[in-house]
Amino acid sequence: MARGVYVGRTFRVVMSLVVGLAVLAAAVWLVAGDRVVLALAGRMAAQNMAADRAAELPDGLHLAVCGAGGPMPDPLRSGPCQLVIAGRSVFMVDAGSMGARNMVRMGIRPGGLTAILLTHFHSDHIDGLGEAMMLRWTGGPAKVPVPVYGPPGVERVVEGFDAAYALDAQYRTAHHGPDVVPPGGAGGIAHAFVMPGPGEGTTVYEADGVKVTAFAVDHAPAAPAVGYRFDYGGRSLVLSGDTAPSANLEAFAEGADLLVHEALSPRLVAMLGEAAGAAGRGNLVHVMEDIPGYHTAPTDAAAIAARAGVRRLVFVHVTPPLPNALLHGVFLDGVADIFDGPVDIARDGLLLSLPAGSDEILSRHLL
Ligand SMILES: [Zn+2]
Ligand SMILES: [Zn+2]
Repeated sequence: MARGVYVGRTFRVVMSLVVGLAVLAAAVWLVAGDRVVLALAGRMAAQNMAADRAAELPDGLHLAVCGAGGPMPDPLRSGPCQLVIAGRSVFMVDAGSMGARNMVRMGIRPGGLTAILLTHFHSDHIDGLGEAMMLRWTGGPAKVPVPVYGPPGVERVVEGFDAAYALDAQYRTAHHGPDVVPPGGAGGIAHAFVMPGPGEGTTVYEADGVKVTAFAVDHAPAAPAVGYRFDYGGRSLVLSGDTAPSANLEAFAEGADLLVHEALSPRLVAMLGEAAGAAGRGNLVHVMEDIPGYHTAPTDAAAIAARAGVRRLVFVHVTPPLPNALLHGVFLDGVADIFDGPVDIARDGLLLSLPAGSDEILSRHLL
């Protein structure tokens, strides 16, 4: 009986304390809520402005995924875009939509871009190029246009974006002045390289210990199409671009630390085709039937990774969209039987680091 009275009194004391604190918090919020929010926002802004992730990374080769998807909208994966940080150089490989914005969100400064490289000229790989060039110019500020490397055809693409952004460039210089946004720094300068034949590599870039080699892949009728191999500090990574299973890619991936390969699930794309048919959308049925032929199934990419002896396999250009992890099992079905190393289904913000002179592969997410 006495114990019951004691417990009841303690409960009432605790409850009145909780209610008192809640009332106090509400009163503080009413008086100073906006000031608290503004102070927090100011701290976040200061952190974001000061962020320079590329400069903070240890010496080595790093992959930062600015767009892990393909052309279809995926809440976790923007259009194709990979950042490769090699020493102090920063490369963007393909400029899918949202890629440059994700770069900012990851704390990697577009103003620090050394060069942009394109694998081929499908719209999903270039539709963020104008924004990437603009953010690089204004973020620098850059005094010269950014070099844009690619197979023949890159001149037309860069000229087109430069023409589309010419008025914007004028407005910005007129508004902020030539010291803030130097008029000569807008846009890009195309560097078309000779398309390498089978078994041949074209050295696209070589400076400061970084070597970038282009090699042919098979994405017909989208041709020319290339993948890139990056070598720096005794580490290497290979980006497939878009391709059907490619023996040439396999040869260039030989012994690489990281193979970053596109992947399309035939089973999930067939399911989308059936859904399109049921909805009476015949053109989409056709598209879903056509696309597996010039992309690579996850199991085929795993076989390439196993034969090339790479240490880790990363799937990008993830098709179709995987809005949640429940579908990962279907996407990866059979992969572990073929390739016994670690496998990632990339989403935007994935960072994989290969420190120079080591055999480590470190992984984390920046978004
Ligand atoms: Zn694509
Ligand atoms: Zn493509």
